[in-house]
Amino acid sequence: MDNRKIEAAGCMADLTRWYRDLHQIPEIGLNLPETSAYIKKELTAMGYQPVTLCNHSLCALLAGSRPGPTILLRADMDALPMEEINDLPFRSQKKNAAHMCGHDSHMAMLLGAAKLLKARQTELAGNVKFMFQAGEEGFNGALEMVQAGILENPKVDAAMALHCLCGDRYPAGTMLCAVDGPAKASADTFSIRVYGTGCHGAMPETGVDVINILCHIQNNLQTIVSREISCFAPAVLSICHIDAGSAANILPEEGMMEGTIRTFDEAVRKKIKQRLSEIADATAAQFGGRAEVLYADCLGATINDTDLAAELFSYVKDLLGPEQTDVIGPIMGAEDFSEVSSRVPTVYMDLSFGSIKEGYPHRVHSPYFRINEEALPVGAACFAECAMRYLETHGKKGADSAS
Ligand SMILES: [Zn+2]
Ligand SMILES: [Zn+2]
Repeated sequence: MDNRKIEAAGCMADLTRWYRDLHQIPEIGLNLPETSAYIKKELTAMGYQPVTLCNHSLCALLAGSRPGPTILLRADMDALPMEEINDLPFRSQKKNAAHMCGHDSHMAMLLGAAKLLKARQTELAGNVKFMFQAGEEGFNGALEMVQAGILENPKVDAAMALHCLCGDRYPAGTMLCAVDGPAKASADTFSIRVYGTGCHGAMPETGVDVINILCHIQNNLQTIVSREISCFAPAVLSICHIDAGSAANILPEEGMMEGTIRTFDEAVRKKIKQRLSEIADATAAQFGGRAEVLYADCLGATINDTDLAAELFSYVKDLLGPEQTDVIGPIMGAEDFSEVSSRVPTVYMDLSFGSIKEGYPHRVHSPYFRINEEALPVGAACFAECAMRYLETHGKKGADSAS
């Protein structure tokens, strides 16, 4: 059972090279020409025929020698619009672009899995589909790939994704899985414009004070989660930006606030949306003003399929041993892999690339974020192991039921 681990360790030089090369050429959003070309070149060198599905997102298929189901493995490819502060010999070579969410490690691990699985192609009963996705950081690149047909031809039966994790208590190389289902929250943004009547700050009675309205809306909105949602249904409503006024003695004509809503439950998500509008409208009206609410449905929650999570996590435990695995709870961060998890059984796992104790205190999106490369083979091995054993189990089942 140790095979994949040993094979992946044998890929360490490749994994490090891929990771470091990609780390130096970060690109943002859906437009990733260099990154996409790099992945294409490496996959082609392994014997794959990667295709550009949409924008710079890639798909590659590995067809086994026997028929069976199809499992999809996904890596996101985009970086963040920020500067890296680390002084690494392979630091970002670009201005205002850096792989501070670790998607470079995701690509390296998926390339590693592609290499491991290619060597086992004749043993596979079914297909492995590789999804290299652009635009995870706020561009919903996963939806574009779904609309371009990533889940069809052949139809995907199960899907798996991995995210790197640092700045926590888990030693490097620990695989973490949200086995109870909820993995990453939904994320919706809203903005509220408030209209009043501007006037002299010395004579507020001659106008309608939008700053007073904004403050009351903020207070009232905070009662939605605390008073109207069950404490057993996790939800967050944060107002992160308020803007109004320009001087110390002028009450402005209008103002705005914007924020984010996170939850795991569609009914809760719907209720918060409805109450947010009602409360903003009623509060503004109460003081003689008017509110205009704009609400963007952004990302649904990423929910692990509990059967598939139990199955794939058992393969991970077999491979790594129980001491190198742990169960993790849901995270209020969001992930556009929800576009896959809402359509096919999915498992989203996290892999620790270093704990605080080990000297990796910075979490993703920090300008100091960096990883312990030693964990790269663990991710590659787990991707490959899960794919192989999933096909083994379900490929056989398919053959039995057909006979
Ligand atoms: Zn991120
Ligand atoms: Zn990320």
